[in-house]
Amino acid sequence: MPTLFSKIITREIPASIVYQDDLVTAFKDINPVAPVHILIVPNIEIASTNDVLPEHEKMLGHLFTVAKQVAQEQGVAESGYRLIVNNGSDSGQEVAHLHVHLIGGRNLGPLVQTRE
Ligand code: 5GP
Repeated sequence: MPTLFSKIITREIPASIVYQDDLVTAFKDINPVAPVHILIVPNIEIASTNDVLPEHEKMLGHLFTVAKQVAQEQGVAESGYRLIVNNGSDSGQEVAHLHVHLIGGRNLGPLVQTRE
C-alpha cells in the first residue's frame, strides 16, 4: 500500500509541492513548526534510515543538493536552517517514508530538549 507521502508524490493527495524531479520531491509540511518547514522525500519508498541501502547513496546525496536549493529559494540559506531526519519511535517518526525536515525562518533553539 502506498505511503501517505507516495500519494503526495503522485498527487493523489494535495500538497504544496515546491520542488520535484525524478528522484525526490519537496513539499510544505501540513503542520509547520517554523515559518519555513519543508519535507524532502525520496520518490521511492524507504521506510526509515534503517532501510537505507548502498544503492540509495546517489539519490540521498542528490536529496541534499535539493535541500540546499530549496533553502535558497525559501530565503533561509543565509539566516540558517536545520535538517532533521527522524528514525523510529523515540524520535517521534510518524510517517514511515524517509524524509528530511528543512526548518528555518526563526531561531530554532537547542537541538534536542534536555528534559526527559
Ligand atoms: P515525522 O514525525 O515522521 O518525522 O514527520 C512527519 C511530518 O509529516 C510531520 O511534520 C507532519 O506534520 C507531516 N505530515 C503529516 N501528514 C501530512 C500531510 O498529509 N501533508 C503534509 N504536507 N504533511 C504531513
